[in-house]
Amino acid sequence: MNKDYLIEKIEMDCPICNKVHSLEMRKRLTQGLVKGEVVDYEEVYYLCPLSNEEENKFVPAGLMDENLLRARDAYRSKKGLFTSKEIAKIRDFYGLAQSDFSAMLGWGDVTVTRYESKTIQDETYNNIMRMAYENSMFALESLDKHKDRFTSEKYKRIRKNITDKVEELGKLYLKKQEINSLYVNYQEESEYNGYKQLDFKKLASVIGYFSHFVNNLYKVKLMKLLWYADVLHFRRHGRSMTGLVYKHMPYGALPIAYDEIIYLPTVKVIEEIIYEDISYKIVPNKEINVSDFSLEELSILETVATAFKDYRSKEIVDYMHEEKAYLETEAYQIIPFNLAKELKELR
Ligand SMILES: [Zn+2]
Repeated sequence: MNKDYLIEKIEMDCPICNKVHSLEMRKRLTQGLVKGEVVDYEEVYYLCPLSNEEENKFVPAGLMDENLLRARDAYRSKKGLFTSKEIAKIRDFYGLAQSDFSAMLGWGDVTVTRYESKTIQDETYNNIMRMAYENSMFALESLDKHKDRFTSEKYKRIRKNITDKVEELGKLYLKKQEINSLYVNYQEESEYNGYKQLDFKKLASVIGYFSHFVNNLYKVKLMKLLWYADVLHFRRHGRSMTGLVYKHMPYGALPIAYDEIIYLPTVKVIEEIIYEDISYKIVPNKEINVSDFSLEELSILETVATAFKDYRSKEIVDYMHEEKAYLETEAYQIIPFNLAKELKELR
């Protein structure tokens, strides 16, 4: 890692040579003392490139506070405490202002504000925030206990946010249990799962990716896209991407638990009636996070999404029917990944 680097050049009044010129805003890894402990943190400072003096660096008052916050956050990370940003993330999770989060937990109005700006929380307070985050029922009970600290309108709004989370997490938990029970025979790495155990987080991200980049995405088509992403990844890297296990079905390769995986939280399923049949349209439910994927994975997802973007479900099914992996397996048989090596070239 580069320990001292340029962020940008800024034209400003230089306090070292007392004239306006271009100064370098730089960041460096440094050490500081927080609560008697030495911590490594990133400090932002200015450098006057014109001065030959030893003292050619300085930190303006505004940046001083930011540097201190970074030093304290480094201390918090080291001690397993939430950083200021993580505390803000927990509030966001339930849609709470700083004072709401304080009131909900029965704390002074500005306690959370202080935690996000300067004070380091002790472990007891940290654990309470952790409980509120990891256990939405605890958050709900805390809110109800401190109901009198909110206007009734605000109380109702926050309560709805929390009960939505309770419901969402409960459903997700049940879905995962269902999927796990269907994968009970595929917990070892083998040619059936592409030498990878089922990875829920990755699977949810991949489904989210396709829902963003492929229009008119229906269930049958999504299942083929998953298969192509997995086999392409297998062909290039010797492992599948998601760990799904696929069966030879009349409509091509279909992963085990195909009915359940579309209910992972990255997507929403809309039921549509088309010619008296119910179709399941998959639409995005969350922003996709590119950092959920490696560059190799992104390249594969892009290849698959581009190749099949405009295919209708039937066209992609027909296309898949010509794959060797399909032709050489019997109906209802698991399609081993080793057969996927001879995939048709995607264009
Ligand atoms: Zn200067």
